[in-house]
Amino acid sequence: MTMIGFIGLGNMGGPMAANLIKAGHAVRAFDLDAEAMRRAEAVGAVAVGSAVATAEGADVVMTMLPMGRHVRSVLTGPDGVFMAAAPGTLFIDSSTIDVDTARAVGEAAAKAGHVMLDAPVSGGVPGAEAATLAFMVGGEAEAFERARPLLEAMGRTIVHTGPSGSGQAAKICNNMMAGIQMLGVSEAFALGRRLGLDPARLFEVASQSSGQCWAVTSYCPEPGLVPNAPSSRGYQGGFASALMLKDLKLSQQAAAAFDAATPMGAIAAGLYSLFCNQGNGDMDFSGIIRMIDGQTR
Ligand code: NAD
Repeated sequence: MTMIGFIGLGNMGGPMAANLIKAGHAVRAFDLDAEAMRRAEAVGAVAVGSAVATAEGADVVMTMLPMGRHVRSVLTGPDGVFMAAAPGTLFIDSSTIDVDTARAVGEAAAKAGHVMLDAPVSGGVPGAEAATLAFMVGGEAEAFERARPLLEAMGRTIVHTGPSGSGQAAKICNNMMAGIQMLGVSEAFALGRRLGLDPARLFEVASQSSGQCWAVTSYCPEPGLVPNAPSSRGYQGGFASALMLKDLKLSQQAAAAFDAATPMGAIAAGLYSLFCNQGNGDMDFSGIIRMIDGQTR
């Protein structure tokens, strides 16, 4: 049994903490939101009064917070968890945050005598609930091996991506691909319809030809072709457009900082920004086909 401090028990953190408890670990949980704390207590976590208090007696502290500034403010500084934790504590941040903050926080952890991994996830709330998340993990190999049994309690695919920050780098590159793919596939299905092509026939061709990609075969934005895809249930559930926009913005921020040319990523960020500003932030990101093709679905 590992003693785990867990900070941030929202849509993702709540079920992740529940899976750690199911696997036999003890969790000391903190969230600013009282309802999230009640849900964590209901699945067997010990609710504590502050982020710092999660570290008391903990071997590992996990964070699952909205953005880089939340991670920085909770962990670093004179009142942060790094100062309160016993030296050698393993920190695992699974939030999706910018690469710079991930690296800076990793350095601050090392200065305080701790080890830290950036371990963002893919798989959404259903993956968090079913313990089938994919973890992309940046940090030292030794820390990765120490974290592996815990990550296996919450996920199915665990990849060590390289040094500190590389987990976040992999996450934003992957999601930039997914966003760009979704736009390309949406445009093609919209054009197909205008040309009088049966979407089912286009799907049959594209899913076995050079157009084949995840946005076609697993997540097709044209309804009725992939039974479990959000497009087949009114674009509800799945991966919210607001979260895709967040990740695309992180990719653009990283591209600017590292002089990478990502013109397609920039277009994708612009289009998702427009889509979200039209009130669609909660809609699954495949719903963007509706903006491209005039609400015909
Ligand atoms: P969420 O908003 O549901 O949960 C975040 C929680 O953090 C909230 O309960 C909030 O009260 C808490 N919080 C904020 N500041 C805090 C603080 N200072 N101290 C303690 N608690 C604090 O968000 P989520 O959907 O669980 O996402 C968490 C992270 O995971 C984000 O970075 C998101 O981009 C990433 N992510 C989300 C999904 C998804 O499908 N929801 C998928 C992959 C990755």
